[in-house]
Amino acid sequence: MAEGSQRRGELEANLRRVNERIDAAMAACGRTGRPSLIVVTKFFPASDVRLLAELGVRDVGENRDQEASEKASSVGDRSLRWHFIGQLQSNKARSVVSYAHSVHSVDRMGLVDALQKAAQREAERGGAGEASEELRPRELLDCFVQVNLDPNAAPGRGGARPEEVQDLAAAIDAAPHLRIAGVMAVAPLGGVAREAFGRLADISAEVKARFPDAAAISAGMSGDLEEAVAAGATHLRIGSDVLGARPPVG
Ligand SMILES: *Cc1c(COP(=O)(O)O)cnc(C)c1O
Repeated sequence: MAEGSQRRGELEANLRRVNERIDAAMAACGRTGRPSLIVVTKFFPASDVRLLAELGVRDVGENRDQEASEKASSVGDRSLRWHFIGQLQSNKARSVVSYAHSVHSVDRMGLVDALQKAAQREAERGGAGEASEELRPRELLDCFVQVNLDPNAAPGRGGARPEEVQDLAAAIDAAPHLRIAGVMAVAPLGGVAREAFGRLADISAEVKARFPDAAAISAGMSGDLEEAVAAGATHLRIGSDVLGARPPVG
């Protein structure tokens, strides 16, 4: 019990520091709309997710299906929204839609198809007997198109090329059980985050011109949240500065 309350105090202090950084970053660029904080809990136990929920966290992020699905069912808190933020194989789509509120890593047409099929199945399973009813918002899976902002990226690191983003957004928009939420990116290693997030903001503006509701920008991690806030991020994905250092893999 004493251990749990010590961990709770640690998480509470870390959350406060991260929220203060968000406040300061907003003040520095004169922003008023506060971005959503997604706490990335990968590698940390379900007990931490429970403590975070008690501390008022509503959005958590995970990047591996097996770990995420085990944690989501073990925590079982219906008020939490699970965000899938990692590279996703199409054969995991069915599992992911069973717990996820959103997928931030949609980067290819095959994955759009797999998520649509999986979300449709899930809706039919959950809404048995009401199949003809108009889709309610909670039956739509929020999808972000992940953009690879590194022009020299090795293939397979995740993320669509900037010129592929519009077609992916259109495919998501056309899928009856998916909603195009916006765009997502990770700042390239060794690059200038401010510049990368500026390019993401330009891509977001192009997507919004066609899909006005797709206004979300998922950007910013522990090391670059200030740059992301300045570039208009609506969703920050913060792991280590809330939970502590992870093993150096993943
Ligand atoms: C792990 C991870 C994060 C969180 O990174 P931190 O540096 O720990 O804040 C954010 N986004 C993605 C895609 C991640 O995999």
